[in-house]
Amino acid sequence: MAKLYFSYAAMNAGKSTILLQAAHNYQERGMQTLLYTSSLYAQMDNRSICSRIGLTAAAELYDRNDDLFEQIKQGSERGPLHCIFVDEAQFLTKAQVWQLARVTDRLGLPVMCYGLRTDFVGNLFEGSRELLAIADVLREVRTICECGSKATMVARMDEAGNILTQGDQVAIGKSVYTSLCRKHWEEYTGRWPCANGDSPKFGFNDTPGGNENTGGDDARPDNRGVAAQ
Ligand SMILES: [Zn+2]
Repeated sequence: MAKLYFSYAAMNAGKSTILLQAAHNYQERGMQTLLYTSSLYAQMDNRSICSRIGLTAAAELYDRNDDLFEQIKQGSERGPLHCIFVDEAQFLTKAQVWQLARVTDRLGLPVMCYGLRTDFVGNLFEGSRELLAIADVLREVRTICECGSKATMVARMDEAGNILTQGDQVAIGKSVYTSLCRKHWEEYTGRWPCANGDSPKFGFNDTPGGNENTGGDDARPDNRGVAAQ
């Protein structure tokens, strides 16, 4: 039976890499896939999913007004489809997550969603909230904080490397993100005193947590991990 999957993680955990590898496995067996990514950070001339390690594949862009069930249903009527992949799934609306659930339940197609669990202030994204609520299979993609612990939180920085604790969920302008464990996230966002008393500051070339920021993944489209819009 087809299932709705949600693989979630913090930034730069390699979600897009895993998505592209999984899609490749289908294609290698002669099966047809349909890939989606959010239009939010995508350039209109770059309809693709890119991973940090250089993998890339063409993708459809979705925005908040798209009826994904109708689109996929029409696609499946044009030719056989075997699996749907959705990157940046945190940006799905609640309604769209239900549309994807119907793709699974009514069209019998597996849907693999990949996205961030929480935003830079620690709140669930709309799409992630609904996926956590109704997906058949939840999978955590692990990445690590600078301390070596599992990173579950995302912090936003300005271009100078200062941690930001206010702003819109989807950033307008340039921001940089890093993944931290919950303990360090509380310290770096000022919710708990820093151990060394200093306010932390990250540079582009010295980001913590195994965060190479070398492009793709959730850090699209800029290869330094700068989400420009
Ligand atoms: Zn840590």
